Amino acid sequence: MKSFYGKSHRPKRSFAFQCSVLMWVLAASALLPSCAFAQFLAQSEGPPQHRPSVVQRLFPRRSRPPARNEAPAQQHREMQTSPKVVAPKKVVKPSVPQRRVRETGARDYSMRRVDAPTSGPRPISQWPTGEKLIALTYDDGPNPTITPRLLKLLQSKGARATFFLLGESVKAHPEIVKTIVDAGMEIGNHSDTHPQFTKLSEEKIRSELQTNHDRIISAAPNATIRTMRPPYGAYNGTVMRVAEQMGYKVILWSVDTNDWRKRTTEQMTQTVLKEARDGAIILMHDRYETSLQTTAQILDSLSAQGYRFVTISELLSHRRPQAVLDR
Ligand SMILES: [Zn+2]
Repeated sequence: MKSFYGKSHRPKRSFAFQCSVLMWVLAASALLPSCAFAQFLAQSEGPPQHRPSVVQRLFPRRSRPPARNEAPAQQHREMQTSPKVVAPKKVVKPSVPQRRVRETGARDYSMRRVDAPTSGPRPISQWPTGEKLIALTYDDGPNPTITPRLLKLLQSKGARATFFLLGESVKAHPEIVKTIVDAGMEIGNHSDTHPQFTKLSEEKIRSELQTNHDRIISAAPNATIRTMRPPYGAYNGTVMRVAEQMGYKVILWSVDTNDWRKRTTEQMTQTVLKEARDGAIILMHDRYETSLQTTAQILDSLSAQGYRFVTISELLSHRRPQAVLDR
């Protein structure tokens, strides 16, 4: 076909040139998507263990979201206080007032907040009274090795503490339960078998608490149990309701020594001294030698600063703090 000027518009190209162009086009069409796919694979929003899998990113709606209260299987007992492990990103707006977050030093209670009831009684994490009082608390005991020595230490320093006993431990060492009461310490309920209450039915929660309650009373008839601490600190509206019906106040903590993480006495002491303040509730477990040694150190250091060590019930018997919205 001729143009207006009498020449063909289409320049003449060799067959070899046309073939090379075709090859370039084919190569580009194969490379570009693979580059994009490689970039997709390289995307990350955190350390490798926190990255979503390829399947999750390819099919985001098909991957199962973590259950609201699902604790990773490898978590130890009170591990949900670990900040990065359990806080789901969706929980941007905590269901507790922001003021409380500030009061608790913005520590991780995100897991608790997920299922935290918006009304009704709330757990107590601290109780500032203006009188330099601190509550030492020990979970999962009694322990035949540590608890008797801990009691002697506390008594020698004129300190009182609260022991959140576990039914299984009470069953194994009932004689120590009476020793705890006779030493002037308080006993709280920490369930019978240490389950995560937020995964249990109301009946099962009640049964766990009642069974342990009966074990404690059987071992120490003069014990008065007014408080309970849910295993892992996990609670929801059902847990709070059952606790209230059974006459328990739900007690959490404001200072976590993380003693079960095999931290050294120095590390734990440093944590406590840094975070100790009026009304602090300190979490330890009377099953570790380091917890015993830490107790010895903080009793000396904080006593020198004018703190007194009281049971949870004694702490709560002081005037209700204005600034804290735990209840
Ligand atoms: Zn526990």
